[in-house]
Amino acid sequence: MANAAQVQRMSRLMIKTLRDDPADAETASHKLLVRAGYVRRSSAGIWTWLPLGKKVLENVSRVVREEMDAIGGQEVLLPALLPKEPYEASGRWEEYGDLLFRLKDRKGADYLLGPTHEEIFTLTVKDQCTSYKDLPVILYQIQTKYRDEARPRSGVLRGREFQMKDSYSFDTTDEGLAESYGLHRQAYQRIFERLGLDYRIVSAVSGAMGGSASEEFLAPAAAGEDTFVDCPECDYAANTEAVTAKVAPVDGSAVGEIEELDTPDTPTIEALAAHLGVPASATLKNLLVKVDGEIVAVGVPGDREVDMGKLGEHLAPAVVELVTAEDFVDRPELVRGYVGPQGLAGKAFRYIADPRIAAGTDWITGANKEGKHARNVVTGRDFEVDDYLDVVVVEPGDPCPNCGAGLRIDRAIEIGHIFQLGRKYADAFELDVLGQNGKPVRVTMGSYGIGVSRAVAALAEQTHDESGLCWPREIAPADVHVVAAGKAKQTELALEIGEQLGAAGVRVLVDDRAGVSPGVKFTDAELLGVPTIVVAGRRAAEGVVEVKDRRTGEREELTVEEAVARLS
Ligand code: ATP
Ligand code: MG
Ligand code: MG
Ligand code: MG
Repeated sequence: MANAAQVQRMSRLMIKTLRDDPADAETASHKLLVRAGYVRRSSAGIWTWLPLGKKVLENVSRVVREEMDAIGGQEVLLPALLPKEPYEASGRWEEYGDLLFRLKDRKGADYLLGPTHEEIFTLTVKDQCTSYKDLPVILYQIQTKYRDEARPRSGVLRGREFQMKDSYSFDTTDEGLAESYGLHRQAYQRIFERLGLDYRIVSAVSGAMGGSASEEFLAPAAAGEDTFVDCPECDYAANTEAVTAKVAPVDGSAVGEIEELDTPDTPTIEALAAHLGVPASATLKNLLVKVDGEIVAVGVPGDREVDMGKLGEHLAPAVVELVTAEDFVDRPELVRGYVGPQGLAGKAFRYIADPRIAAGTDWITGANKEGKHARNVVTGRDFEVDDYLDVVVVEPGDPCPNCGAGLRIDRAIEIGHIFQLGRKYADAFELDVLGQNGKPVRVTMGSYGIGVSRAVAALAEQTHDESGLCWPREIAPADVHVVAAGKAKQTELALEIGEQLGAAGVRVLVDDRAGVSPGVKFTDAELLGVPTIVVAGRRAAEGVVEVKDRRTGEREELTVEEAVARLS
């Protein structure tokens, strides 16, 4: 027999449901999670998880944990409060810019609240693993992360404090890294399937993470802040941020002409925005933008990623998000500007395109494979051409590269991200282990994230309907929501059913609140989104209840015995 499960009585549950959407809420998940009493805004982008919300969050964590354990991941818990030095050594104390929460201790030493933990995991492994026999190793944690996001909107979708599962793989060989990456990819597929999320895997820019291979897991949803391209006919999908190498041959010469812009040494967002004649925004990053008919790629200090998806919002109306590859081919005059990321020797550059670029063979963005940024943007001198990433630019209806069908451009939520980091952090911290031949071997790493709290919101986005939330069973805060719709007799029966189901291991929420009308209870049951609703109502005296499927709305009258047997 299954272990007895908790029977949660709503009369004793701290819950206050709301009829009206919170004034500042734009997305369905934000509105519904607040209205259903799952979360409460504490301050901008910072959320309290109330009892039912915490259950859902725990359920997501449990699935993640089980699948991480299944690939041999070892769970650890690192601090969120971190000293500056490791982040200085990796360069991210600077690179992160305003995204970092920084603070000082009483002695004046600098600290930060961890936005992600590559540095600290690298140091942990450096300390704990000394021989190739200690590797490979996969470490993970489910932990609170801090990022001072510029626009913490959308409820828990984008928090400034949020829950992330982050894991890190350590291998001695490239093949080993590829294997660890593959294991994570599979684990992520299982996790998102179990969570009941509709998702796509797309290749992604690794940006300042500095990786060579990187894929994102995107959950299609209108509320998403990512834009992606997908094919309605085959499984082709790509992030519009994604880039593929497809460049002109190197002949040692600069591709085009580089002109230093008249901006301060470390170009600020304001300076770039002023140069472009567009409004400044703290979240401007690497964007492919079209300003007054010119395509301009902009890289700005700040977040560590290339992010074109947000550009429209920040630069509108001067900007279009996407331009076709053909634009480069047929209208070379469009390709006028390139402003490199902060790593470009701390300067901003304008890149005047070479005709070969206009011929559709080359388009350059910021980082090379090692994650070091270009110094002078001279192809062939500082980089091999295929170190460059070139931007995939598409418009709806463009032919799918696999099957030729017209592509769609959709919005999605980034729920997971996997990177083959390579040796960037191992180099920064000299992470070596003793190899088989007694010589030190530099370790190669991967890093892998899942937005655990974001996944709750993504699920709410994908599964809700006009009446409220509508959880997949594995994630729901309870399996069955029993409503006592009436007086003492109904309450008694509802509690009786609750007890029986609970004894059979079914997680039950019983709405036994006194003085709350059946109508309000029904509305709340729909809003809370537990997958099965049992109503002890009119026919309670005969021992007959109504069993309703929250999703399909199908309902059936059953005796208590039948209902309990059905639902256990
Ligand atoms: P985004 O593009 O949405 O800002 P990211 O690329 O910065 O996300 P990663 O650094 O890849 O995020 O972190 C791993 C995962 O953590 C992301 O895939 C996402 O699911 C989650 N995540 C990132 N930022 C937030 C946030 N502010 N709030 C909630 N979850 C987040
Ligand atoms: Mg981000
Ligand atoms: Mg991202
Ligand atoms: Mg990411």
